[in-house]
Amino acid sequence: MDVNNIKKYFDEMIVTLSDEDKDSPNISFLRQCVVDSINNNTVNILCKGELAKNYIEQNIIADIRNFISKKAEQNIEISIVVDQNIEIDEIEYSEEEQSIPVKTNTTNSSSFDSINYSGLNRYYKFDNFIRGTTNNFAVAASIRVSEQPGKEYNPLYIYGGVGLGKTHLIQSIGNTFLENNPNSRVIYIDGSSFREEFVSGIMSKRANDFKKKYRSLDMFLLDDLQLLETAQETSKELFDIFQALDSKNKQMVFVSDRPPKELQNIEARLKNRFEKSLILPIEPPQFETRLAIIEKKLQDYSTTIDKKIIEYLAQNITTDIRKLEGAIKSYLSMRDIMNITPNLEECIDKEIFKNYITTNTSIKNMTVKSMIKSIAKYYGVEESEILGQSRSKHITRIRHIAMYITSIYSGKSTTELGLEFRKDHASIIFARDKISEKKKTDLHISNEIDALIASI
Ligand code: ADP
Ligand code: MG
Repeated sequence: MDVNNIKKYFDEMIVTLSDEDKDSPNISFLRQCVVDSINNNTVNILCKGELAKNYIEQNIIADIRNFISKKAEQNIEISIVVDQNIEIDEIEYSEEEQSIPVKTNTTNSSSFDSINYSGLNRYYKFDNFIRGTTNNFAVAASIRVSEQPGKEYNPLYIYGGVGLGKTHLIQSIGNTFLENNPNSRVIYIDGSSFREEFVSGIMSKRANDFKKKYRSLDMFLLDDLQLLETAQETSKELFDIFQALDSKNKQMVFVSDRPPKELQNIEARLKNRFEKSLILPIEPPQFETRLAIIEKKLQDYSTTIDKKIIEYLAQNITTDIRKLEGAIKSYLSMRDIMNITPNLEECIDKEIFKNYITTNTSIKNMTVKSMIKSIAKYYGVEESEILGQSRSKHITRIRHIAMYITSIYSGKSTTELGLEFRKDHASIIFARDKISEKKKTDLHISNEIDALIASI
C-alpha cells in the first residue's frame, strides 16, 4: 500500500461525501484531518483536535475504513491521533459553486461509477475464498451465477451460520459480475440497510425513487435477509422488486442465517418464491479447509507462523472463520508490537487465543476419568474396555482417540496420562501423534472427533 494512494482515496471520499451533503458535519471534521502514514494495514490519520478525533471515532470511522478498504482492495484499519501542528491543505473551489470542492482524479467522470454504486467491497473475490467439502456447492453455484446471471439459478439462496463466508461469497458474485460487465447496475445491501432505505424513502416522500432504483438493477444481492423478518412493509416491497427483476431475468442472490422455511413474518408470497430458489447451505469447514484458510490468510499478510500454532488454531477454532482471522491477527500484532515470537505453550499461557476458541470449553474443566467416561458412552462401549487390554481393532481405535483427546484437552503430561490408561507414556505419545496425523488427511475421522468433542 502506498501512502500517496491512500491520501488520494481519502480526498476522493471527502469529495464524494460533499456531493451527497456538503453541509454535513462529517465533511468539516474530515477536513481537519490528513493521512499521515501506513503501518502494516493500519492507516494513521492525524487530526487537528480532540473534538474532531472524538467525532470521527464515534460517527464515521467505519465509513472511512470501508471506503478506503474498497478502494485499496484490502481490509485496512484506521487509527486517529491528535496533532495540533498539522498543516491542512486548502481545498480548491470551482468558480461557479463556491462551496463544492472540485472533483479531482476521477479517471472517467462521464461513465457510471458502478463499483461505488454497488456498495461492494472489492476485497471479496472467489480467488481468495478457500473451497472445501462443506461449501463446495455454494461456491460452484455462486461462480456460475456470476458468469451466467439470470439463467439457471435465479434466485440463488445461500444460508448458514456466522462467519462461514456467506458475505464473502455473495460479494464475490457481484465483484466478478462487475468485472465482466463494468457498467452494470448491481446493488449489494444487507437486510437492515435495505429496510432503512425503504423507510427513509417513504418518510421523505421519495418512495418512488426507491422502487425505480431497485427495479432497474441488473443484479440484486441481499445479505442477511433474516433482518427483514419483522419488517412487513419492506418485505412486501421486496416482493414487488422480486417480481420485476424476475420478469426481466435479472439475477438475484439472497443470503440468510436460516433456510426459507424457517423465516418468520416474511411476506408469504415471497417466502414461497424463496422456497423455489436454488437453496444451498454452507456448513462449518473441515479441519483441512481450516488449515488452508489459515495458510491463505498468512499468505495475504506475507508472513508465516509456527506449524504447531497453525494446527492448534485449526483444531480449536472450528465454526467461525472470523474468529480464526481474529486469532491470527492477535498473534501477529503481539509478535510485531512486542517483538517476540511466542511458541504455542507461551500463547496458551498468555491466553492470546482465549477469546477466539470455539471448541467446547467445558471439556477443558473435566477430569481425565470423566472424559474417558463420555467417550465410552459416545461409542457405546464400557470404560473398562478402553482401559483394559483388549486388542480388538474397534476398541484399540477408540482407545487411541481417547488418548488423543485427553492429551489435547486435559493439560496432563503423557506420563500422568499413562497412569490413567495403565500404559507407559510412549503409548500415549504414539496414539496422540497417530490420530493427529490421521485427522489431517482423513475427513471422516476429523469429523468424527469434532462431533465427539462437541458431544462431551
Ligand atoms: P458470514 O457472512 O457468513 O458471517 P463472512 O463472509 O463475513 O461470514 O466471513 C468472515 C470472514 O472470514 C471474512 O473475512 C471472510 O473473508 C473470511 N472467510 C470465510 N470463509 C472463508 C473461506 N472459505 N476462505 C477464505 N476466507 C474466508
Ligand atoms: Mg455476513
